[in-house]
Amino acid sequence: MKQQQRKQLIALTADWPSSIQFDVPMASYSTLRAGGKAAGFIDIYCLSELQELVGCLHEQQLIFRVIGRGSNILVTDKGFPGVMIRLKGAFEQIAFKKSFDAENDQKFYLVQAGGGCSLGKLLSWCIMQGLSGLECMAGIPGSVGGSVRMNAGAVGGEISDCLHSLDCVDDYGHVMQVLRSELQLSYRKAEFKPRGTSLNFLHSGNSLLVVSAYFRLRSGIKEQVRSRCAAFLAQRKERQPTGVASAGSFFKNPPHDAAGRLIEAAGLKGRCCGEVLVSPKHANFIVNTGKGTATDILTLMEQVQEAVFQKFAIRLEPEVEII
Ligand SMILES: Cc1cc2nc3c(=O)[nH]c(=O)nc-3n(C[C@H](O)[C@H](O)[C@H](O)COP(=O)(O)OP(=O)(O)OC[C@H]3O[C@@H](n4cnc5c(N)ncnc54)[C@H](O)[C@@H]3O)c2cc1C
Repeated sequence: MKQQQRKQLIALTADWPSSIQFDVPMASYSTLRAGGKAAGFIDIYCLSELQELVGCLHEQQLIFRVIGRGSNILVTDKGFPGVMIRLKGAFEQIAFKKSFDAENDQKFYLVQAGGGCSLGKLLSWCIMQGLSGLECMAGIPGSVGGSVRMNAGAVGGEISDCLHSLDCVDDYGHVMQVLRSELQLSYRKAEFKPRGTSLNFLHSGNSLLVVSAYFRLRSGIKEQVRSRCAAFLAQRKERQPTGVASAGSFFKNPPHDAAGRLIEAAGLKGRCCGEVLVSPKHANFIVNTGKGTATDILTLMEQVQEAVFQKFAIRLEPEVEII
């Protein structure tokens, strides 16, 4: 980042709750505990700051990326030349918007959750309110924004199943509402459906900057919502390594198969590169047991891809976003 660009950003953010930082190691912001430096990094607490910042970055022709809990990203050791943004404060709030009666006398509620809100917080809130629909997300350590962007899913459900709409910010800092029907939703991906050239999302490489998501949730019984969440969590604990640095499933499942099954069948459980290894508990988890670098993780990733390709002629695609 040029000196002039740094000066502009320092001046813009000087009086904000959290001002811009430079050359920030992203290992501290990724659950893989590895990654190069971001040229700029800032926590943003309210919409007006976000709009000003995005407008300024656009003017300065600086790339940026919004991250959530860092549970599905890996910044290469070369680093990220733009600005990493995290949504905090107002973006972590949850609110009822309205209720409506739908089929079978069932009541539905429209719930707004900020892009920076953790799924854990949202689920605890849903339990307290007795609202059902998001239970299969229990144990996914992401934010609402990151999980929508990744169309996170588990046990046959996806976050988009009960998504109603989004509030997004474009590259000029304008807020726009995006309905679920305007999204192209696929396995671990949510994008805008192409709709002409009027959209201004070309700059960030992050195309969907989610400031709020609206979910359509069913009224349920508190204890039942709680016990469904607990059952999904228990299932996770049994099958997946816990308390280690990972990004969850490292590879996407190929059609009609499971990446973990293929990796295990290729004899790769326990394979390591430096302090990074293929988990002996779940072969689709790459775990960082110490000071493994992004390069170690990517080297092991390529070894796994190569070995699986040699044995099954299937090329595994990373689910983790490599930045
Ligand atoms: C132990 C473990 C278990 C996991 N289990 C699952 C699972 O069962 N199912 C599953 O799908 N995933 C799982 N994951 C992966 C991960 O938790 C999810 O993909 C999660 O939804 C990512 O959210 P995040 O906030 O951490 O996003 P990040 O990792 O911070 O970012 C992911 C992507 O989203 C973008 N992004 C983040 N916030 C926003 C925003 N506000 N607006 C626009 N884009 C944004 C980032 O730029 C990046 O491209 C697991 C991860 C771990 C560590």
